[in-house]
Amino acid sequence: MRLRLVDGVSGAGGGRTAAETHTLLRRVAIGVYAGLKNTPCCLCGRDETHTRIAVPPRALGLMENGDPISWRDVVGTVTLRFCADDWDLVSDLAIEMDTHPLSRCNAAHVSLDLREDHEALLSAVKGETDQTELESRLAAEAEATLDAVDDPYTEERDVVEAIVVLRALEELGVRDPPGDPVAP
Ligand SMILES: [Zn+2]
Repeated sequence: MRLRLVDGVSGAGGGRTAAETHTLLRRVAIGVYAGLKNTPCCLCGRDETHTRIAVPPRALGLMENGDPISWRDVVGTVTLRFCADDWDLVSDLAIEMDTHPLSRCNAAHVSLDLREDHEALLSAVKGETDQTELESRLAAEAEATLDAVDDPYTEERDVVEAIVVLRALEELGVRDPPGDPVAP
């Protein structure tokens, strides 16, 4: 599924014909609009959503319909949106039961950017995205949020997001569960 666009753009001479430029712009437009920026509630599919959180792309593997999506090709985080009713449920799951709702989230209802879109912008073909840096950053941010859980400026949304991110990374084997310092 690699884009062939770069063949015509990066050739010797560097000059772009009008047709090539047009192709480039069209690809960029497709990339932007393929991003599904306003997705419905990932639990019930309702269009009106209340709150969103960001999770690492590897978490797609824990979601319904997530298997066909190549999480290694996702650039940046995956955004999940929830309606008000489901956000209450997700908050309870996270804060009271210390778990995440991902197995019931529909991966068809998340927003993400695939690397192919970015290749069109960068005119370069690279290896699959290295997810470990992003995962380390998200985990560190989540830990900082949970460390500050008693701070009056810490928002419930951020706490829920932190718990979902950490529990998901543990379930995926990226992190050790709390209280288990032995690396696999
Ligand atoms: Zn919902």
